[in-house]
Amino acid sequence: MSTSPVTPGTGWPGDPATSATPVATTPDEVVRLATTAPDQAALDARVSVCRACLRLVEWREQVAATKRAAFADQPYWGRPVPSFGDPEAEVLVVGLAPAAHGANRTGRMFTGDRSGDWLYAALHRAGYANQPTSVSADDGLRLTNLRIVAPVHCAPPANQPTPTEQATCSAWLDRELALSSDRLRSVLVLGGIGWANLLRAARRIGWSVPRPQPRFGHGAEATLTTPAGRVIRLVGSYHVSQQNTFTGKLTEPMLDEVIARLR
Ligand code: SF4
Repeated sequence: MSTSPVTPGTGWPGDPATSATPVATTPDEVVRLATTAPDQAALDARVSVCRACLRLVEWREQVAATKRAAFADQPYWGRPVPSFGDPEAEVLVVGLAPAAHGANRTGRMFTGDRSGDWLYAALHRAGYANQPTSVSADDGLRLTNLRIVAPVHCAPPANQPTPTEQATCSAWLDRELALSSDRLRSVLVLGGIGWANLLRAARRIGWSVPRPQPRFGHGAEATLTTPAGRVIRLVGSYHVSQQNTFTGKLTEPMLDEVIARLR
């Protein structure tokens, strides 16, 4: 049985890190390790051991140690959750941050909670996922031509990362975009905070962003252009949070419709 949080390189399914993976403990180290990551595998590994945000490190590890009663017999990942999916993807999905008892428990984006049930069922209907469910890191789920990334990789208290935490984690997102920019076709952003973070990242790495800045909304669209002239379609969606799906603010047809625009 794994420890909670999980020690890097001890056999957790999909753990990208080893005991030799370099650990960022300051914002400057995040920038250095992100910008020097040669590929997504190295990026995922470095993200997954990051300790640069003291408040979030404490929170994610405290949640992993205390656990929710329903999961008391399970180990919790309790580390930053790396991006998940096809490293050669032409499509990105951008969320916000891991859920305390979802991805922070399972170690995989949108895995182990109702938000993931919604997202992966939709991605399965659209042909990006090989199965409609996502319950654990070893459940066999695979994504084709799509990768899920996050502006903040650690579970925050009350699902609210601070502006400073978003800024610290942004170097990982910048590198993610830079590594995918020569093949990327479209990006689906879930929620307004993710939308703002994605646009800031695009500007930082030199992509052209329309002015005035495109406003977030469900179904909103914008066109981004890389320095090499590649045109990328940005599509907004309400987040797949329980708050939105339980209340009917986001329905399955609404989600299917925006995902269909990513092709
Ligand atoms: S939120 Fe990002 S920068 Fe902060 S500790 Fe987690 S992975 Fe590191």
